[in-house]
Amino acid sequence: MERRGYYLRPATHAGHERHLINNVSICYLQRIIYMSQAKIIDGKAKAAELSAEISATTAELVESRNIKPGLAVVIIGEDPASQVYVRNKKRTAEACGFHSVQHTLAEDVSQADVLALIDDLNTDPAIHGILVQLPIPAHLDELTVTQSIIPEKDVDGFHFQNIGMLTAGNTTGAFVPCTPAGCMLMIEDQLGKDLSGLNAVIIGRSNIVGKPIASLLLKANATVTICHSRTKDLPQVARNADILLAAVGRPQMVKGDWIKPGAVVIDVGINRIEVEVAGEKKMRLVGDVDFAEAMEVAGAISPVPGGVGPMTIVMLMANTLQSAQRN
Ligand code: NAP
Repeated sequence: MERRGYYLRPATHAGHERHLINNVSICYLQRIIYMSQAKIIDGKAKAAELSAEISATTAELVESRNIKPGLAVVIIGEDPASQVYVRNKKRTAEACGFHSVQHTLAEDVSQADVLALIDDLNTDPAIHGILVQLPIPAHLDELTVTQSIIPEKDVDGFHFQNIGMLTAGNTTGAFVPCTPAGCMLMIEDQLGKDLSGLNAVIIGRSNIVGKPIASLLLKANATVTICHSRTKDLPQVARNADILLAAVGRPQMVKGDWIKPGAVVIDVGINRIEVEVAGEKKMRLVGDVDFAEAMEVAGAISPVPGGVGPMTIVMLMANTLQSAQRN
């Protein structure tokens, strides 16, 4: 891909200017000028750091108040991707020193049985966080199930009370959904907490990613645009973004020429595609962004895998710990 001229890596430190420059001025010579590949935002390393902090705080909580954060994960049916996610969540919870329980329910479980289990967990003092792994089988009503978890234990942040608080800008009282919370930490690491003057474009308007990340970005003073399948001239809108977040579920949809040079790109998508390696067909995980093309244009980008995924899991632990601390 053709290089696009000199540009400043956008504000890898808070408060730095984030300007595309065509001519190198004395002022800009004081800064590091890049014509190179994007910085990779290492979600795995950041998640490991946070996980160590959570473990330390958990040990203190056990020591000082004899409270061990308890996380209950409910999985319904045999979806292989869900099984992997749940296994990873359980493993991380145990590594953080949590009390971790998993309830595996049959694919054909009745809604009444699911709600009865959630009722038990809602009143179990050893459990501070409950999550039902989505998607759930079609005969169950997802809304009824997610809304049956009491807001105080809704560590996924899907209860209307938590959504409402987040939308109202109350991010300390609410449980913030884990993926958006993880994305925000990655963005803050690149650009600082105050995103005044920056344009953020989110592709995807789901309740679990697109909408809550919009609330968080707005609270951080970014100017936010949410795009979706009906957006006109999406590449043009995306090119306006200093922060571009893709949460679509379409492999490598965001191309290099959709990206403003120097932008921070957060790739939420997780897609399995078939690739041929040495004549053999293999499955590979890719994001919603064409990573190779984006590397040539962006200032920083989160990879898939190893970006948002690990951050999502660790934010679940952070929410569960927060719930236990509120006891
Ligand atoms: P979703 O509920 O299916 O929402 C997808 C969004 O993308 C919708 O708003 C949809 O628009 C929009 N969209 C679809 N095709 C489009 C197109 N051609 N152009 C523009 N917008 C388009 O998905 P989600 O739950 O938000 O998840 C999105 C992706 O993130 C998936 O790959 C998922 O696996 C991944 N994910 C990853 C994590 C993680 O931890 N890394 C967590 C959650 C999700 P409409 O609303 O108009 O249909």
